[in-house]
Amino acid sequence: MAKRKPKKIAVIGAGWAGCAAAVHLCQQAQEVYLIEASRTAGGRARQVHLHGKQLDNGQHILLGAYSETLRILQQVGIRRSDVLHNLPLQMIYPENEPGMHFIAPRFPAPLHVLLALWRAKGLSKEDKLALARFSTTARWMTWRLDQDCSVAELLQRFGQTEKLCRLMWVPLCIAALNTPPERASAQVFLNVLRDSLGANRAASDMLIPKVDLSSLFPRHAITYLEQAGGQAQFAAPVRALYQHADQTWHCQTAQEHIAAQSFDAVIIATDYTNADRLLKSLPQGASTLPPMTFEPITTCYLQYDATLRLPLAMAALIDQPAQQKWGQYVFDRGQLNADQAGLIAVVVSASQAASELSHAILAEQIARQIAGSFGDSRLATPMWHKIITEKRATFSCSPSLQRPQNATGIPGLFLAGDYTAGDYPATLEGAVRSGLAAARAVLNSR
Ligand SMILES: Cc1cc2nc3c(=O)[nH]c(=O)nc-3n(C[C@H](O)[C@H](O)[C@H](O)COP(=O)(O)OP(=O)(O)OC[C@H]3O[C@@H](n4cnc5c(N)ncnc54)[C@H](O)[C@@H]3O)c2cc1C
Repeated sequence: MAKRKPKKIAVIGAGWAGCAAAVHLCQQAQEVYLIEASRTAGGRARQVHLHGKQLDNGQHILLGAYSETLRILQQVGIRRSDVLHNLPLQMIYPENEPGMHFIAPRFPAPLHVLLALWRAKGLSKEDKLALARFSTTARWMTWRLDQDCSVAELLQRFGQTEKLCRLMWVPLCIAALNTPPERASAQVFLNVLRDSLGANRAASDMLIPKVDLSSLFPRHAITYLEQAGGQAQFAAPVRALYQHADQTWHCQTAQEHIAAQSFDAVIIATDYTNADRLLKSLPQGASTLPPMTFEPITTCYLQYDATLRLPLAMAALIDQPAQQKWGQYVFDRGQLNADQAGLIAVVVSASQAASELSHAILAEQIARQIAGSFGDSRLATPMWHKIITEKRATFSCSPSLQRPQNATGIPGLFLAGDYTAGDYPATLEGAVRSGLAAARAVLNSR
């Protein structure tokens, strides 16, 4: 049988979705052009330079359940243990906080959760029974709801205690979906729990990057692409798309050698807003994307003396905005990367109210919060701080949200990105899965 001629494909956007799509297409011997607007690969999960260090535009955490992400890391030659710090499933608050201490031992599932529950400190018998009930009921329902509802409603239906909601479910929901439980999709929350808590023990592990986010995957993806004969072009925002009469595609960009190319297919792997803009640029008046709203995430970096070390690499914090306590999770970056001793990252998800404060005030309040939480007055006075707020960090993951498919319905034009239809909320895994699905859709198209 005659070998099929490789397709020439433009992937617009070198975020995690675009990089995953490009890698998969190269593996299938296609001719790939990856076109990125900025000078750095990684999109919303990228490296930033700060005070001579390579940090991230936002502290990220991955899960052992991120099967496609972990697989593609391996495929581009990354050894997981070199780039990710493996922590067992846990929810640990600093000792000075009236929190809880829940950590899964390295036993097979579901024993790890049961034992963690049995040993958990800070939870009453009633809380533990409620948590066990949640897990049993969710399994019995095969983690599926007939009709989606809010996470808050689900927790009420499953009879979860006030303490368990405050210390475990609400922080987990905000971390995973970046949407407050009153507005968050219970079905998407259950999907994440099914693949982590409800799967094997390794799937529930928490993975913290030891390297900056661009070096974690996107840079390796680009090397892989170039070695396979593909091209990556940076600082090349695509302003519009055109389809010629012969159905080939043209990307309007200031980089002439890209603008001069004709492509058999295009994957728009940008964020939602730019994808919507590019679709609207089409002369044939393509349908626009279903409406979505967005939630911010704020990361506060605080630098202390290099000798300062927290008792844990990662801890949960009790956020109480009314008391100017904004931080939800704290990471000791020095325990993950030798070059970052004394650097602490505090994450505030769904951070609308916090992001309205001045950077100086927010950093001061967060530093005071962690000083109180860890009972260490040195933490109140960092040497420098840096606040980074991504205003449109993720889409608001509301119940029954309509998300677009990878195929646009226009021949040769596909979408990839964390906002497209899928089981996951806006996450690295959601982006990677979407990129792979878009690449497969291109390969299966005529
Ligand atoms: C602060 C923060 C914290 C987060 N924490 C976590 C976490 O802990 N765990 C987790 O799993 N997920 C987390 N996420 C979510 C995760 O980062 C995103 O879901 C994921 O990075 C989205 O990838 P993407 O490829 O779909 O889109 P993007 O990352 O937005 O990539 C799109 C790319 O397209 C480029 N582009 C846009 N327009 C054009 C154009 N016209 N021409 C060319 N290029 C263009 C952009 O520059 C960008 O590089 C977090 C996100 C943020 C912002």
